[in-house]
Amino acid sequence: MFNLQKWIRPHIWELKPYASARDEYEGTEGIFLDANENPFCSKDIPRFNRYPDPYQRELKQQIAQIKNIDASKVFLGNGSDEVIDLLMRLSCAPLKDEVLIMPPTYGMYRVCADINQINVLEAPLTEDFALQTDLVLRTFTAHTKICFVCSPNNPTGNVLEASEIHRIIQSFDGVVIVDEAYIDFARQESFVKYLHSYPNLVVIQTLSKAWGMAGLRLGMCFASEEIIRLLNKIKPPYNVNQATQEIALESLTKTAEKEEQVQQILSLREKLKHDLKQISEVEMVYPSDANFLLVKMAHAEKVYQYLIQQKVIVRSRANVQLTKDCLRISVGTAEENEQLLTALNTYVHHKSALV
Ligand SMILES: *Cc1c(COP(=O)(O)O)cnc(C)c1O
Repeated sequence: MFNLQKWIRPHIWELKPYASARDEYEGTEGIFLDANENPFCSKDIPRFNRYPDPYQRELKQQIAQIKNIDASKVFLGNGSDEVIDLLMRLSCAPLKDEVLIMPPTYGMYRVCADINQINVLEAPLTEDFALQTDLVLRTFTAHTKICFVCSPNNPTGNVLEASEIHRIIQSFDGVVIVDEAYIDFARQESFVKYLHSYPNLVVIQTLSKAWGMAGLRLGMCFASEEIIRLLNKIKPPYNVNQATQEIALESLTKTAEKEEQVQQILSLREKLKHDLKQISEVEMVYPSDANFLLVKMAHAEKVYQYLIQQKVIVRSRANVQLTKDCLRISVGTAEENEQLLTALNTYVHHKSALV
């Protein structure tokens, strides 16, 4: 049912991509006088006088091994945000095509669509943040190219029902992007293992959350070889820089350390959840499969402002559809969480004097 050529914007199918020096000659041996690089490099910071591998081959091999997938099904971007943008520009004609989102969800989907003048259709989650598959399927039109499924979802923290995600992938003739930024914290399995069954599935992950490398900017995209080839066609030639490639290679060897941190964050999350529930202002702490908690509170906006005064910065989702009166709180270290709780308790005990 999924027709890749129909999904892609026609001019991109025809596009002759930019050929970098490293595309024209792929070997590693020889004297390189082809890219106008400086032949001298700093003794302290070697290699950076040369352009990086445009296809990040070594890094992709390593990621492919960790994810148990062929390297030809991996695309890397300058953060997942670049991957989201490239997928939209690959398929959606401005002022004509559409993407579907399920609010409340990650804000970048809409912003990226707005920048590219792509219409956004909405099929909101239920009050309990569950996916409404029938509504999603009814909302698709002939111009809908992408359906964003964020699981675990930001800012609600919950995973969406896997069988419902399957139903959408199976019934949609566009591409379903399953955004798994928080998958390492979740009890649910990644959709990467279904790539071989669905040509219209794209999974995105990131080094920014569980891997603790938000500053590096490395987004990972897993999809069919054909979709990866098209992404390569339109990406900026050197979109993942040399420093990121090197440090990512090194950090990805530290799987045990990452796993340990994930376990630590999960237990800190459970303690934080328990402690937050003791605070009278807190009406509800939503179930979380991520490294943050969505917390419903009386006077959320005032609490948010008070916390800022106390130099504790959380995210207010108080004015967002379906998360009214909610704050989104990342799980910090034990000390950071204590400071948050102290500030909240101070607010509760002194609020009559404060407001
Ligand atoms: C944090 C986050 C990302 C990661 O974005 P990067 O650009 O890779 O840092 C992607 N999707 C969601 C839902 C997120 O919350």
